[in-house]
Formats: sequence, structure tokens, C-alpha cells
Amino acid sequence: MKNLLNAVRIIGDPVLRQKARPVVFPDDVPEITGLVRFMEKVLESHDGLGLAAPQVGRSVRLFIATPDRLEELNGHVVFINPEIEPYGEMEKREEGCLSIPGIYETLSRPSMVKIKALDLRGNTFFLDVGDLGARLIQHENDHLDGILYVDRLSPIKRKLLKGKLKKLRGGESLD
Ligand SMILES: [Zn+2]
Repeated sequence: MKNLLNAVRIIGDPVLRQKARPVVFPDDVPEITGLVRFMEKVLESHDGLGLAAPQVGRSVRLFIATPDRLEELNGHVVFINPEIEPYGEMEKREEGCLSIPGIYETLSRPSMVKIKALDLRGNTFFLDVGDLGARLIQHENDHLDGILYVDRLSPIKRKLLKGKLKKLRGGESLD
């Protein structure tokens, strides 16, 4: 059994920078069912709100969320091959990431998002989400394209963070 607390890949790990591949139904189902179960345990052990597959080293287009703390997700936990359309006013919120431990920064993103995704059975669902759920979906979806939230900070904020980020494992530079 892998150590759940060490399961999350930290900035500097190349898997966080890859564009993840789509999940194929039904071929990938046995594999991703196990992966989702593992990710749920990892998320729970870190007390996080969401986790994308690349964060546990698997470059597939899938993320999970904790719907009990995000009513706006309508009970959905697993988001596979998501397609998103952010819209609405830009909104500032503080973001953090399990792959960038100990760092929290305020970032502007659209306040709403429409999402189309598949569940574990391969059924398509649609949601129109606001609040923290909209933020979470945009953050997790970025992970599937190899984007970390610190990439979206202003050049000045990124410069200020540079030293802190280098201290994290791998020492990846933002430049
Ligand atoms: Zn993250």
C-alpha cells in the first residue's frame, strides 16, 4: 500500500506539466475505477477539496471533488474527460494546491463555469456551477493541461514566489 501522504506529486515533477490523455470507455474503466478509489483516499488524508489524476502521477483526464463540502456540484464526485466553459465576472479568491504545499495566493478567474463530463459509468452530465465549485473545476481542469495556478499569477507575484517555489521538491523555476 502506497503512503497516502506521500502520494501527491509536487511542483517540479514532470507529470504535472504533461497534457493528460482522454479516458477511453470501456477499456480504461477497470484501471480508472481503482485510480479513483485511491485518489479519494489521498484527498481525504490531505483534507483537500479536489484532486486531479496527474497529481498522483497518472496523466489521464480525470479529477475528483468532495461534493459534501461543495453543494453546487450536485453530488458529483468524479469528472472524466471534462470540457469547461468559464464565464461571468472575474472574481478574486485565494487558491492553494496540494502539489504546491504551504503556498496560498489570490487569483482572479471567472466566477461561473459550465462543465460537461462523464461519470464512472460513462454517462455524460452537465453542470452550471458558481461559488467555490466554479473555482475548483477551473483549477482541476488546468491540471489536465499541465497548468498550475501559480502560472496564472501576475509576473510580479510570480517573481515574489520564485524563491519559495524553488525550495519545494524539484526546484522548478516558473520562468
Ligand atoms: Zn491543484
